[in-house]
Amino acid sequence: MKFGLARSGEAVRQVDQVPTPAHSWADFVAALAALCARHGEGQPDDAPLAISMAGIVDPDSGILTTASNLPGLVGHQLAAELTVALGRPVRVANDADCFALAEASVGAGRGRRVVFGIIIGTGIGGGLVVGGRLVSGAAGITGEWGHGAIVKTMAGSPPITIPRLECGCGRMGCIETVGSARGLERLHRYLTGLTADSRAIVDGWQAGDATAGRTIAIFLELVAEPLALLVNAIGPHLVPVGGGLGSSAPLVAALDMAVRGQILRRTDEPLLVPAELGSNAGLIGAAVLALQDEGQ
Ligand SMILES: [Zn+2]
Repeated sequence: MKFGLARSGEAVRQVDQVPTPAHSWADFVAALAALCARHGEGQPDDAPLAISMAGIVDPDSGILTTASNLPGLVGHQLAAELTVALGRPVRVANDADCFALAEASVGAGRGRRVVFGIIIGTGIGGGLVVGGRLVSGAAGITGEWGHGAIVKTMAGSPPITIPRLECGCGRMGCIETVGSARGLERLHRYLTGLTADSRAIVDGWQAGDATAGRTIAIFLELVAEPLALLVNAIGPHLVPVGGGLGSSAPLVAALDMAVRGQILRRTDEPLLVPAELGSNAGLIGAAVLALQDEGQ
């Protein structure tokens, strides 16, 4: 758990990092209380606390419904219960949403009206920001484009059959099963029989290795098509790309070219660009959220 402080108009400053008590609600509350006490001197008692976390919060009930890495927290009305326990207003948002809000506010997408921030890392996720505000959809699910089957059954040149791999969500053939970093590795294994780290596959492609190049070409073909559909449906002015694979500027540029070749909007400007805020995007997005709430 990273902990930071932010004042209106200033950059968030990380001041602490502690292990997340993932299995116990009481320990989680105690850890947050300790962080607030340790760093709260000189801060107003009612300064809001905003939390960016992996997991889905239902915006209607406030209940954390899904969080595979935080079993002790699931089922709790996070914001409401923490507001009482900590004696200050608490806001909770999904980490991909916070990433998108951060990139839209002070990162790659600043100044753009519609920003769809996507994460291509261990998994695939995203968040939508319109007019500087996070879009919080039904059941807290917006921008989760990793889960939904890839339509293509053939890809590559010459074309080969693309397998329907099982996804962590229980469905078959989701974009995440071939489009995330782990998915790229699965795709490479399927195509070549070789086990390689996603970073090594991207590096091999960059170095001109034909085997890695074929995997990346098929990866781009499979991921660009659903992304182009999303761009047509949502209309983002910019799509910042974060996560492990998003840190490869050449890969983002190649995906950008592939997506722009399939969308209705004609633009010579890059649409998909590398995210700018790195691993602190969650912290920054949470701070933006809290300051927005305060300003209302
Ligand atoms: Zn899935």
